[in-house]
Amino acid sequence: MSIAIGIDIGGTKIAIGFVNEKGEVIAKSSLKTDLDLSPADMLAKVAQEIRRMTEEQGIPLSDMSGIGIGAPGPLNTKTGKLVCPPNLKSWWDFPVVETLQSLLPLPIKMENDATAATLAEKWVGAAQDAEHFVFLTISTGIGAGIYLHGKLITGATGNAGDAGFMMVHPAGDILKDEPYGYWEQIASGTAIARQASELLGRDVSTKEAFALAAQGDAAVAELVDRVFAYIGIGCVSLINLLDPSKIVIGGGVSQVGEPLFEAVRAYVSKHALNPSGRETEIVPAALQQDAGLIGAAALIHCTYS
Ligand code: ADP
Repeated sequence: MSIAIGIDIGGTKIAIGFVNEKGEVIAKSSLKTDLDLSPADMLAKVAQEIRRMTEEQGIPLSDMSGIGIGAPGPLNTKTGKLVCPPNLKSWWDFPVVETLQSLLPLPIKMENDATAATLAEKWVGAAQDAEHFVFLTISTGIGAGIYLHGKLITGATGNAGDAGFMMVHPAGDILKDEPYGYWEQIASGTAIARQASELLGRDVSTKEAFALAAQGDAAVAELVDRVFAYIGIGCVSLINLLDPSKIVIGGGVSQVGEPLFEAVRAYVSKHALNPSGRETEIVPAALQQDAGLIGAAALIHCTYS
């Protein structure tokens, strides 16, 4: 059975997984992203860990079908570089693909992490039946991946789907101030915690905000309703623009479950332009934990463009 190596590069950890052609993770490991190390040294540690895992599993590296990398944007998949991901400043303009290639002689593909997770949902997750769908991850920020006409839509440089930066509410003087009102500044996990903390005058986590709303705290419930409506607003824009049959939502915030999904469905059913758009299925992601890894490996296992 063919096995691909998935690498999910993040600001806090780098996850590594061996994934078989059924999308099963047969081995995994993770390294803390050490920002005191140069990216070249960090990737050398990743390569060393991969070699250790191949020995542990008794699978020669040369038997692996390739390496897929999911990485945070902005990146450039044409040059194989991370361009300017905010949480990995020391990696800016670093040639990730070329460097890893010099350490591990296997075919390597790199895509934006949300794009890779989108492919995972198509391959073995909640969008197996969809030829046109959008994957949203609502977590620390908001990211998206676009899959239309049976293909991943990645754009000219691999940055398609930066939906967290769609402007949904241009607050302030837009001619003078720095623009404020990106989707993720209003509706990500970070934004929910910030707004709830402002409201209550103390530190409130996203999870606690949802709990307070469920327990009947009227002010927090109104805030949560407003955030869910904003998630609906972003979905309506994506639906009107891309005409997907389904939107799959993952990421930490989606774990609040039905209250979010019901509110987004209700908003979409009223405000999408087309009758078909109003019926877009809005469903939870099937792969939470390992979506990044499986998605990265899917870049090797699946035909996607
Ligand atoms: P990351 O952004 O690193 O991928 P997550 O997908 O776990 O991480 O998203 C983190 C965000 O999701 C945080 O804002 C966190 O408060 C929120 N979150 C995590 N778990 C839950 C939960 N069960 N319910 C609501 N919000 C959650």
